[in-house]
Amino acid sequence: MLGPVILAASRSDRMRRLISAAPVTKQVVDRFIPGETVDGVLPIVRQLTDNGLELTMDVVGEDITTPEQAEAARDAYLELIDRLKPLELGERAEMSVKLSMFGQALPGGHELALANVRPVVEAAAEIGTTVTLDAEDHTTLDSMFAIHEELRKDFPQTGCVIQAYLFRTEEDARRLAAAGSRVRLVKGAYKEPAEVAYQQKHEIDKAYVRILRTLMEGEGYPMIGSHDPRLIAIAQELARTAGRKLDEYEFQMLYGIRGEEHLRLAAEGHRMRVYTAYGTDWYGYFMRRLAEKPANLRFFARSMITK
Ligand code: FAD
Repeated sequence: MLGPVILAASRSDRMRRLISAAPVTKQVVDRFIPGETVDGVLPIVRQLTDNGLELTMDVVGEDITTPEQAEAARDAYLELIDRLKPLELGERAEMSVKLSMFGQALPGGHELALANVRPVVEAAAEIGTTVTLDAEDHTTLDSMFAIHEELRKDFPQTGCVIQAYLFRTEEDARRLAAAGSRVRLVKGAYKEPAEVAYQQKHEIDKAYVRILRTLMEGEGYPMIGSHDPRLIAIAQELARTAGRKLDEYEFQMLYGIRGEEHLRLAAEGHRMRVYTAYGTDWYGYFMRRLAEKPANLRFFARSMITK
């Protein structure tokens, strides 16, 4: 019940101001967002890769309101890529981007987002890695998929995300399960209406399995974005049945969630990529993590009361 309320708050400017200013917020935020600057996050990059994990890096931010902010987002990714270059991690550290941060919702936003994201994809390719386009709310997806298709003409490795809770996704998955594609499947983290999305957890989980089967039986590279132990076991079974080797799919989880499971899967020989977010505009990302697990909210509320 709490999840939808928190997701509504994640879009409220008033709540953003209140929560961002609360002095105790930071220690709870740090669990999910381990740095506000590139310098702050690079030690985490080293620590994770030393432990045999791979990364997808997210400079937090979304729903910007001016073209200058979109350019600043582009520049933040370019700086990150520049700083990753000497580490020579190649594909072991890729980028995840939200197109709303690149101007997608502004007037002329589709072209603006494409123009801003292209240099990031180019710079990533220059250091031997790639970019995955995150999926945001359902109204943004046609534009996201069109930008994905456009970028893939020059950079076929560019990935995208699909969300199991949306009715449209089974069809998207059939289209995307083609040779050379890289597709991350997640349950979905936004507040979506019943006209477009399953609302019950068991329906979303069943859709996730159907879609994952399509991806596994297809010719692309599936990226399983979930912490759900049942889905992870099913994914391993589906991969075996589809005759996929360990390097023909990967698991992805968020930094700060089920860290021991990251290491367990990597130790079993799986590719395990940790979505690592950093930056100062963490509000939307943080609130979605609270919405996913009410216990996080209780912990957060308790720390506000006891300080
Ligand atoms: P759940 O059933 O929610 O969780 C399974 C178990 O995982 C829980 O019981 C709990 O133990 C643990 N867990 C899950 N979430 C939390 C949490 N916040 N705090 C503590 N424990 C938790 N969504 C999008 O809409 N677009 C995206 O582009 C996107 N990218 C993602 C990238 C990655 C790598 C991952 C892992 C998720 C991404 N998501 C994205 C979020 C996703 O949609 C889900 O909201 C999120 O992963 C929770 O679903 P779950 O599959 O882990 O299953």
